[in-house]
Amino acid sequence: MKFAKPLPSYLLQRYHGWHATTYSENQAWYRRLADEGQRPRAMVISCCDSRVHVTSIFGADTGEFFIHRNIANLVPPYEPDGLQHGTSATVEYAVTALKVAHLIVLGHSNCGGVAGCMSMCSGHAPELDEKTSFVGRWMDILRPGYAEIENIQGEQERLRALEKKAVCVSLENLMTFPFIETAVKEGTLSLHGLWTDIGEGSLECYDPATDRFSKV
Ligand SMILES: [Zn+2]
Repeated sequence: MKFAKPLPSYLLQRYHGWHATTYSENQAWYRRLADEGQRPRAMVISCCDSRVHVTSIFGADTGEFFIHRNIANLVPPYEPDGLQHGTSATVEYAVTALKVAHLIVLGHSNCGGVAGCMSMCSGHAPELDEKTSFVGRWMDILRPGYAEIENIQGEQERLRALEKKAVCVSLENLMTFPFIETAVKEGTLSLHGLWTDIGEGSLECYDPATDRFSKV
């Protein structure tokens, strides 16, 4: 592949810095992780957004979280159609092979993907409606959620509600995977819906009893 270039120097410097400090000081731990394999207790599905720092907000160490990130932390419904499904592959591996005990969907404030979905569904982003838009077709997963929030007053309120809907739609879609439904019913897996406010640093958890998110 003749187009690949060497790393930019600022990344090289940072890597060498990490190797000389964090890695050197914990070499035995990294060796153990390599030899014994990974045994994460939790899987997290979050947005790709660079401001969502999953491992930081939970103080998680190397080997603790099995993480999948995609635009707007969405999980599609179970579709065993023989095509390539990246997100579905990660949940299948986490639940059936790694046997994680917790599956967390983490939504966030100021989500560009969710804002794009709202523009698309309200007819303000025709480019996202194109068949050739990968973002648009991905955000189609959230269309049923938009139908439930479109009458909420105030654009910011609607946006926030749709960000939280993205978490709930994903949780519902997770339950359409037979191996997830079974693990949840047997009590070996629990699903959790979270939403974090980037500016506030706050975290809210979905409570099915009230059908609301509340601060933890
Ligand atoms: Zn996002």
